[in-house]
Amino acid sequence: MKLDFLKDLGIEASNSGAFDGKWLKTRGGELVIKSPIDGSVIGTVQLASAADYSRCSHAAHEAFLRWRELPAPKRGEYVRQIGNAFRHYKEQLGKLVTLEMGKILQEGLGEAQECIDIADFAVGLSRQLYGLTIASERQNHSMRETWHPIGTVGVITAFNFPIAVWAWNSMLALVCGNSCLWKPSLKTPLSAIAMTRICAEVLGKEWAPLVALCIGNDVEVGAAMLDDPSVPLVSATGSTRMGRIVGPRIAQRFGRSLLELGGNNAIVVMEDADLDLAVRATVFGAVGTAGQRCTTTRRLLVHEQVIDDLTARLVKVYGQCRIGNPLDAKTLVGPLIDEGAALAFDRAIATAKEQGGKVVCGGKRAKLKGSSKGAYVEPTIVRCESVLPIVKEETFAPILYVIPIRSVEAAIELNNDVPQGLSSSIFTADIRKAERFLSTIGSDCGIANVNIGTSGAEIGGAFGGEKETGGGRESGSDSWKVYMRRQTSTVNWGTALPLAQGIKFGDD
Ligand code: NAD
Repeated sequence: MKLDFLKDLGIEASNSGAFDGKWLKTRGGELVIKSPIDGSVIGTVQLASAADYSRCSHAAHEAFLRWRELPAPKRGEYVRQIGNAFRHYKEQLGKLVTLEMGKILQEGLGEAQECIDIADFAVGLSRQLYGLTIASERQNHSMRETWHPIGTVGVITAFNFPIAVWAWNSMLALVCGNSCLWKPSLKTPLSAIAMTRICAEVLGKEWAPLVALCIGNDVEVGAAMLDDPSVPLVSATGSTRMGRIVGPRIAQRFGRSLLELGGNNAIVVMEDADLDLAVRATVFGAVGTAGQRCTTTRRLLVHEQVIDDLTARLVKVYGQCRIGNPLDAKTLVGPLIDEGAALAFDRAIATAKEQGGKVVCGGKRAKLKGSSKGAYVEPTIVRCESVLPIVKEETFAPILYVIPIRSVEAAIELNNDVPQGLSSSIFTADIRKAERFLSTIGSDCGIANVNIGTSGAEIGGAFGGEKETGGGRESGSDSWKVYMRRQTSTVNWGTALPLAQGIKFGDD
């Protein structure tokens, strides 16, 4: 595999795993990075220790103290230049994401585009960090609400979106006047190094510590971030298992956490749906990124009148999905991240069968031409006559459970009957069913769509989900508010001191 492009991104054979404005000589041991495509070594990273973490945190905090004083539109100007740098390196970034994470190149490029999009969004936002003016009940008083930077934002990211999730958080955090400290997944650290280098180059020596990076293990570096009082907000993306540890630990010190955790997303297909659209959306949602998106379609709740037809169509398309090297333009399904993920796939298939599910297609490891050390699996459809216990779990692999339903009410009940609450969608031509799905008594997820699938969100909307998905919202809409502290101010411009609620106190 040609790795020359890595040099454009500043990736070397051996890389420092900590950046506090400059790359540190770290003391946490060496991590060898292998591509999930074929197991070949693509670089090494010298991991950070707890002491390295402290340096990064200190530098990020010092930079924040200065950065917060810069007018927000001036901060936006830096972010505009960062966005342009992302544009400049889009091809290389997309390729690196594919190389290190295994998603197909089109999706790698899409992830790089998401970084550009959120930078653009943040630039506009830098002139729109609006507060309210509020009518005071007191004579000659005015009230207002203003938003202020909070400090260093810790960003913990999952392997499956090695650059976009950080960009969602950091671009907003920067225009809001904060610094960032990134702890990426140990499965995708090179992508984090590349992004940090690009941003640091734009920010220059003065502001580079705003994008501090600390690559280390969860027990040492992860824990240091969770307990760090100079990190008032930790935005953590990953499994629900991780969220159960991270959330309460940050809460112990009254820190703020933004949790973006696991999903178990359903598409509902009603009897009146456009099945061509439903097939395309389901394949993209269930097979895309080899089933390794938090928004991956894992459940298909189909009206009994069309379930056989839809399943047959899906099986046909699944049969045409090319599995293989994700850098090859014809490939639709790349490898899973590692052997551990493939074992989880094997286990889920075996459990589904034990519980009564019927594998309609796939279900096995994929046999590729030539020898490959990657963990490739077949996209799989399992027909279940009712909800099996395994259906309620998130297996991070391309397994789609197809379940019959008889009414939109039953579909909504099943859609909501899982511990997770990230994304959902309904395919129907009936406005009554569509609106019911989106209503108060409809889907309980953070995302609910009509006639498009569960995955592939745009950056303009707030992204996140309910229940075990963690409750956080990031990216668009007014998500920026979580990166700031709100202040309510009352100003008395008169000569008397009236008390609220008309209270008389002492002689007044
Ligand atoms: P993971 O939970 O194994 O790891 C995620 C991150 O958390 C990594 O950086 C990891 O090092 C860190 N981490 C884990 N335990 C920690 C601890 N005790 N202290 C500090 N840090 C800790 O998840 P993964 O396998 O990398 O990613 C897949 C999961 O992420 C799936 O469940 C997926 O649904 C979820 N995900 C959610 C979203 C979302 O926006 N809701 C987006 C992407 C991925």
